[in-house]
Amino acid sequence: MSYDNNNIFAKILRGEIPCIKLYEDTHTLAFMDIMPQTDGHALVIPKEAAETLFDLSDAAAQACMATVRKIGEAQKKGLGADGVVLMQLNGPGAGQTVPHFHIHVIPGSIGDLRRPHATVMADQNHLKALAAKIVAAL
Ligand code: AMP
Repeated sequence: MSYDNNNIFAKILRGEIPCIKLYEDTHTLAFMDIMPQTDGHALVIPKEAAETLFDLSDAAAQACMATVRKIGEAQKKGLGADGVVLMQLNGPGAGQTVPHFHIHVIPGSIGDLRRPHATVMADQNHLKALAAKIVAAL
């Protein structure tokens, strides 16, 4: 599958548009979702150019899961989340809206996923305050 270099997450990785960063290492980046389904909803992305899980290398998939674990633990500790839901959509047929592989790391319960996906923009200051709590717990 051809990868769109101008998708929004590719631009975030190149520093062309801002994000509220939580964590970064050689292979991955974690940041706040701007249209969260719960307070603290984060995204983990690989630096590798891949649209879906089926395009991603095993090494990048492994690096993403290690970062997901870090972020989820920090959400539990920093936000007092009882549970953490992971969601990962592959292709437009699954409802994927940004064509760069990402894992949603959502503090809360499966019931929260009934809220509409990628629809309501959160207040930036609210997102930053939540991000600070997650980062402090990393
Ligand atoms: P998906 O529909 O699984 O591709 O999810 C894309 C996610 O990216 C949605 O939850 C959006 O709210 C989120 N999103 C879109 N643009 C941005 C952005 N500029 N910064 C952070 N999150 C974003």
